[in-house]
Amino acid sequence: MKNFNPADNIQDLQYFGEFGGVNPSISDSSTYTFLSAKTMFDTFEGNMEGCYLYSRHSSPSNLYLDKALAAMEGTQSANVSASGMGAITPTLLQLCGTGDHIVSSRTIYGGTYAFLKNFAPRLGITTAFVDITKLDVVENAITSNTKVLYCETVSNPLLEVADIEGLSKIAKRHNLTLVVDNTFSPLSVSPAKLGADIVIHSLTKYINGSSDTVGGVTCASTEFINSLKNVNSGASMLLGPTMDSMRSASVMKNLRTLHIRMKQHSHNAMYLAERFEKDGLITVYPGLESHPSHKIYKTMINPEYGFGGMMTLDVGTLAKANALMELMQSKNLGYLAVSLGFYKTLFSAPGTSTSSEIPMEEQIEMGLTDGLIRFSIGLDNDIERTYQMMKACMVELNILAS
Ligand SMILES: *Cc1c(COP(=O)(O)O)cnc(C)c1O
Repeated sequence: MKNFNPADNIQDLQYFGEFGGVNPSISDSSTYTFLSAKTMFDTFEGNMEGCYLYSRHSSPSNLYLDKALAAMEGTQSANVSASGMGAITPTLLQLCGTGDHIVSSRTIYGGTYAFLKNFAPRLGITTAFVDITKLDVVENAITSNTKVLYCETVSNPLLEVADIEGLSKIAKRHNLTLVVDNTFSPLSVSPAKLGADIVIHSLTKYINGSSDTVGGVTCASTEFINSLKNVNSGASMLLGPTMDSMRSASVMKNLRTLHIRMKQHSHNAMYLAERFEKDGLITVYPGLESHPSHKIYKTMINPEYGFGGMMTLDVGTLAKANALMELMQSKNLGYLAVSLGFYKTLFSAPGTSTSSEIPMEEQIEMGLTDGLIRFSIGLDNDIERTYQMMKACMVELNILAS
């Protein structure tokens, strides 16, 4: 664990382009020729390592990105997909069928929640949603049909931290597959090193980092990745959420700066969280001592990448939250937009946006209050200057005293 550095692992991979280019060539083909009919047959049967068949299965460009992301997470293999949901749903459908049961954190990405709550039951797959921070509650929710334990390292939007080592012990005891969505904390946390069986990312967020595409990845054992891509029974191969080669080449280039960006996101978010907490705002950031999971999170992270760029502030009411977001946008402090991991700060009120799939009673029960603003803190050069400008907006709206 101590010697594991995800950014160094990415750096140590070396690829050249077809003509000695410093970037790998982009494979611009949907299908591939074979010199012999026998090789084509063997490839179909899954017996020909290194041969390409058809780009819904894999393409050279996608395999480069797969390799880099597997190296980052310390898994044997990976499979990129056209979106984060395009990684999550095939992974869960590969693991579960009719009659199977999932125990999931209740504070997960709204799309994943909607899939498990509304869609998966149509296929006979049911889910118990639990408070993932209470290991006894998690274990009590497991039934004889449970196949999967599902959580996010740091959850959206309340930034609850899952004790991955503790959950992995429970998963092993009950023979479950522990699936962790690590979208909020790339590099900072290495879930597979803490005992997760499968690690998923929405590449749309920090990993690509430029808000110009959606993308996803499943990082797991070679056996599981091959099962996802199996031509006869693989959920990724058969449902078809394939990433385009042009796009994977582009994501790969952005991945090169992920370590620099994560350090700056973390630095800026820590700075603002400390200042606004001191100013008396209810501030949720896992880097603060006041965060209920601070102690455990500190033991989980690769410290040089920090506590991440996500933070929430509670400004009291939805009306104040909306007014503040509009004012901050007009001062060019960021954008009123969902998603995260952009160079610019993004903010939204989760109750009315990304978590609106979660029924109101459940939102209240989990502490998702009306005045909550979720921030994805950007790469601002001078964060003290940003703080002063944000504070001026809050003073203008009587959220803070001057
Ligand atoms: C955005 C997000 C997803 C879904 O990813 P898409 O790329 O939008 O499909 C899944 N999990 C988390 C934690 C996310 O933030």
